[in-house]
Amino acid sequence: MTDHNFDIVILGGGSGGYAAAIRASELGKSVALIEKDKVGGTCLHRGCIPTKALLHSAEVADTTRSAPSVGVKTTFEGIDMPAVTAYREGIVAKKFKGLEGLIKARGVTVVAGEGHLTAANSVTVGDDTYVGTDIILATGSYSRTLPGLEIGGRVITSDHALELAEVPARVIVLGGGVIGVEFASVWKSFGAEVTIVEALPHLVPNEDEAVSKTLERAFRRRGIKYTLGVRFQSVTQSADGVTVTLEDGSTHEADYLLVAVGRGPATDGLGFEAAGVALERGFVAVDERLHTSVPGVWAVGDITPGLQLAHRGFAQGIFVAEEIAGLSPIVVPDLGIPKVTYCDPEVASVGLTEAQAIDAHGADQVESYNYNLAGNGKSEIIGTAGMIKVVREKDGPVIGVHMVGARVGELIGEAQLVVGWDAHPEDIAPFIHAHPTQNEALGEAFLALAGKPLHAL
Ligand SMILES: Cc1cc2nc3c(=O)[nH]c(=O)nc-3n(C[C@H](O)[C@H](O)[C@H](O)COP(=O)(O)OP(=O)(O)OC[C@H]3O[C@@H](n4cnc5c(N)ncnc54)[C@H](O)[C@@H]3O)c2cc1C
Repeated sequence: MTDHNFDIVILGGGSGGYAAAIRASELGKSVALIEKDKVGGTCLHRGCIPTKALLHSAEVADTTRSAPSVGVKTTFEGIDMPAVTAYREGIVAKKFKGLEGLIKARGVTVVAGEGHLTAANSVTVGDDTYVGTDIILATGSYSRTLPGLEIGGRVITSDHALELAEVPARVIVLGGGVIGVEFASVWKSFGAEVTIVEALPHLVPNEDEAVSKTLERAFRRRGIKYTLGVRFQSVTQSADGVTVTLEDGSTHEADYLLVAVGRGPATDGLGFEAAGVALERGFVAVDERLHTSVPGVWAVGDITPGLQLAHRGFAQGIFVAEEIAGLSPIVVPDLGIPKVTYCDPEVASVGLTEAQAIDAHGADQVESYNYNLAGNGKSEIIGTAGMIKVVREKDGPVIGVHMVGARVGELIGEAQLVVGWDAHPEDIAPFIHAHPTQNEALGEAFLALAGKPLHAL
């Protein structure tokens, strides 16, 4: 047994863990970052980056198909899956190399291996023990399934879906949340027949209902099928396909069933509870400053209850590093975190939905405005439909922005600043939005709520 002493020992080198490591070492701390697989974690290797590469290939396929409609002669010949894979892997490999270089340049000690929390101040990897004045838990999440629904063969998770060597002819996606609709979008663009099964009444059920309904219409137009409000019952599989039965008795056949019903916290069997770290339904319980129930032990990222997003992990990692260094950083509540779903059309939102705003403030204290992208020149040019909905407190600040349409993810920055700074639509109205941009649509919604609509009624 060898002991190694550091100021901070971090268990897990994904978005949350590596951000904490980089910020802590910038602040002069000695840091050990323990990673059993590859630094970068889910986001870089199995999540954000590879899926967005696939979505880009999908977008190019659709652009190629529609090119003649804008006067560009092309012929869509099909998807070359080995080339798509090479492109996706190339992007991930470049980002991985860059990240490894960055972590090394910051002087972080990366320890390869599986770590276990063996005491409130130590993590053991094989025969070595890493002792830290502070410990940060950042072990991330895994694809969940439903009771009795076993993953294997043609019943796959997003990890397997990313690696598929072929475009399936037919696929069923169980779960109409972020991961489900992104894969549905990719596969449809690649030429598959896609059916989404969602137990709740809407796709992307955590979004404002107006956004969900707009996305549903867009998916219907794209030929993506979905069933809403009916639960999955069972699946059988053969050598070349699956048959899925829903609780209404209907059956659906496909080549694969993608199970995209959410992600659970990776906290099992790592010694957390034995060391006194309290869990809440498997997640690590933390206070708003991300302290666990054990002094000197912190937790960041997907293992903490709340939104499971890479940029939340980054922000939490930075927060904890600064908190340990005594900088008393400002708490960022989940409500201020922007969310983007990168299907076609994209969905982007920040703050309260209209229903949540009414719950919080009362119906007579909430105003909202839906700006239809049909009124926006740039959206017309790029051929997208959708809308931007702004929710404000009556005579008060903007408390929610909800968007759906091609490329609206790129508009979330302004929306986030407006919500984060409690700006009133009247404060934003004088800021001129460039014409013709999609950003203008956001400006139009603020103008309308400030009582002076321009390209709207
Ligand atoms: C298909 C998919 C698409 C996604 N797309 C997006 C997106 O577009 N935008 C977005 O913001 N988020 C996206 N996410 C979510 C994002 O990937 C996660 O929120 C983010 O990775 C969480 O970071 P984390 O550090 O908490 O955990 P992770 O990234 O999961 O990292 C945890 C790390 O800990 C390591 N580890 C675990 N246990 C141990 C142990 N005992 N010892 C050593 N190492 C250990 C793991 O190997 C892993 O590297 C997506 C996720 C998926 C699955």
